[in-house]
Amino acid sequence: MTQRPSDSGDSGGPEGGGDVVSRVVANLTHELKTPLHSMLAVAQVLLAEIDGPLNEEQKRQVGIILRNGEHLLELIVGILNFSSSREETHRLSFREVEIKQLFEDVISGLRHVAEKGGVRLESDFSLLAERFCTDKALVRRIVENLLSNAVKFSPGGGVISVYAKTLSDGGLQFGVADSGIGINREAQGAIFREFYQADRGDTKRFGGVGLGLALVKAALDRLGGSVDVKSEPNRGSLFTVTVPSSSNRRTRRKILIAERDEGVRLTLEECFRREGYESFFVDSLADVFRKVGELRPELILLDISPPVEEGFSVISEIKKSAWGAELPVIIMSALDGPRERSRGFECGASDFIVKPFDVTELIARVQSQLE
Ligand code: ADP
Repeated sequence: MTQRPSDSGDSGGPEGGGDVVSRVVANLTHELKTPLHSMLAVAQVLLAEIDGPLNEEQKRQVGIILRNGEHLLELIVGILNFSSSREETHRLSFREVEIKQLFEDVISGLRHVAEKGGVRLESDFSLLAERFCTDKALVRRIVENLLSNAVKFSPGGGVISVYAKTLSDGGLQFGVADSGIGINREAQGAIFREFYQADRGDTKRFGGVGLGLALVKAALDRLGGSVDVKSEPNRGSLFTVTVPSSSNRRTRRKILIAERDEGVRLTLEECFRREGYESFFVDSLADVFRKVGELRPELILLDISPPVEEGFSVISEIKKSAWGAELPVIIMSALDGPRERSRGFECGASDFIVKPFDVTELIARVQSQLE
């Protein structure tokens, strides 16, 4: 059964309803992320022993807080991802992606779980070009969801085969086949609906919430692709995905920078230009909010020279807006104290870089936020 962009029929709510839900989820996840970031920042400060040494046991305990906090953050981001895949909150960004690497990364992330469950993972990328122009975050979510379902619904002794190839029109096709529990015919038409799970009994056994395939379909709608499923109960399933190349939709990514120093501005402009970004500058923090609404950049770099509170309140204001919840904000600051850091994360900043900084490091941090 092939699901194309126009087949959205029974998976959504009433017209426009998704927009409201998406905003609520984005705001809620932001509200959860904010205190969590500041808790993690405090745990990091403790581990760095800035305020005095910890004994081994205390280090171990703070380590547990950090690891679990990071895991919780991942879950929250997962919910946000679902919400943002289908709505305007995810600004599509097309660029050349190392596609083989993307598949290999996802596979290596799941190999351990598969092998632990006695399932073998095979792959064939011999007909796949190294690069493919697309929105990396969405394609990665599609691959991750299909592959993790294949692992989840395959009993021990099974095999999962993944192939990907470049089509003659430059598009991407890939398939994920498993020898798992399979899906009956009636359920095949419904599995792409939000919160649908084919068998309640299985659900208890396998976990999940029924959002993975809805996310796959929502992401494909946005990319203009499609997904097809063939399956037989107790024999396994094959999900085949086609994604058109987006090379003609490539856009330069916009970065808004609040920075007064002319020398720093010139350096940043040149570096970002070389990396394929377009940078826009504002002199005063007061202009940031207006400019963000006008430009809709993908990231903000904010210099918070004293009085620092003004910078923090700009970040809070952005994060409270419907479109700003997912917008990464990196603070650039000459002050490097645990208080500035935790205050920044508390307001919703994604990263903090101390001035004077190394431009290569700044670019790497920007890229990691955008991915
Ligand atoms: P979740 O996995 O969280 O339950 P999904 O949206 O990813 O939610 O999948 C919806 C339902 O489709 C699953 O609950 C399961 O019944 C069925 N399904 C998805 N992938 C597979 C698969 N590879 N094998 C068998 N059933 C599957």
